[in-house]
Amino acid sequence: CADAAMQQAKDSGRGNRQFYQPGMDVRAMEVLQQERLLREAIADNAFVLHYQPQICLKDGTLRGFEALVRWRHPVRGLVGPIEFIAFAESRGLITPIGRWVLHEACRQLKAWQDEGLALVPVAVNLSALEFRQRDVAGEIAAALQATGLAPQYLEIELTESVLMHQTGQVLDTLQALKDLGVGISIDDFGTGYSSLAYLKRYPIDKLKIDRSFVMDTPGSADDVAIVTAIVQMGRSLQLKTVAEGVETAEQMALLRRLDCDLVQGHLVSEPMDAPAIRQWLLGPSARTAA
Ligand code: C2E
Ligand code: MG
Ligand code: MG
Ligand code: MG
Repeated sequence: CADAAMQQAKDSGRGNRQFYQPGMDVRAMEVLQQERLLREAIADNAFVLHYQPQICLKDGTLRGFEALVRWRHPVRGLVGPIEFIAFAESRGLITPIGRWVLHEACRQLKAWQDEGLALVPVAVNLSALEFRQRDVAGEIAAALQATGLAPQYLEIELTESVLMHQTGQVLDTLQALKDLGVGISIDDFGTGYSSLAYLKRYPIDKLKIDRSFVMDTPGSADDVAIVTAIVQMGRSLQLKTVAEGVETAEQMALLRRLDCDLVQGHLVSEPMDAPAIRQWLLGPSARTAA
């Protein structure tokens, strides 16, 4: 096994700037092994999207899905994005994964629409690095074109770190998405370091209140105050608010009282694979989950 790993290190050393050293430690070997597996996964499209419903707090109807990527790992089974997105970025491998996610989410939503199911948008996550490195607007236009999905059924989730850099390029890209008709959400809202000024500078549609603020409500008075303030600010700025990570009926009741627009979380549904979502859409739960 160690020999095989060394051979891989030598092999991958040819194309990349990695050279086997006798003293190379186990950790470095693991990184190379992981990188090789991830390259194979990209070549084989060994990823799958799970979808998590977003529900309207007022009437309990389905209003959208978030697409969340998983890696079908040959040994470890389904591996979540926390364990490979940052790694993929560090190895220069995020672009093909991000492209696959975008295309697959659009394709799946269109397939559900063609069946008469799910006339709601799908949200796709883009990391700050992806946003900087890729021609996001061009790729999104191409994915919509290729799959036939109408632009109003696609949303992009960005974190505040994307908006931190006050570049004309960020504004141009967001404006291009807006012009296409694609929705823009701020993910993990409240956890970034950016100034709130971006809320007026950029064409944003939704704020997703980070799970860390929702988690300890209604017990924590501080968190209730923060969530209340975000929902009120959202309303004043005409942005929709989505609470992430809603797990309890008490959290849901609070959010409803505050007039938050949408909820997403395990209380309604965990992220599910496409066949499970399809069943969910066919059943009564899709309409009465809240
Ligand atoms: P996120 O965009 O904030 O997604 C929400 C995460 O919270 C998901 O974790 C979801 O499974 C989890 N979650 C939802 N409801 C609950 C709940 O009630 N309780 C708890 N404890 N967790 C809940 P997941 O799928 O592991 O994704 C983690 C992060 O990975 C995402 O956070 C997103 O930042 C990133 N990610 C996921 N898919 C992609 C992708 O295709 N591209 C990129 N660049 N990043 C992605
Ligand atoms: Mg997200
Ligand atoms: Mg989030
Ligand atoms: Mg989050």
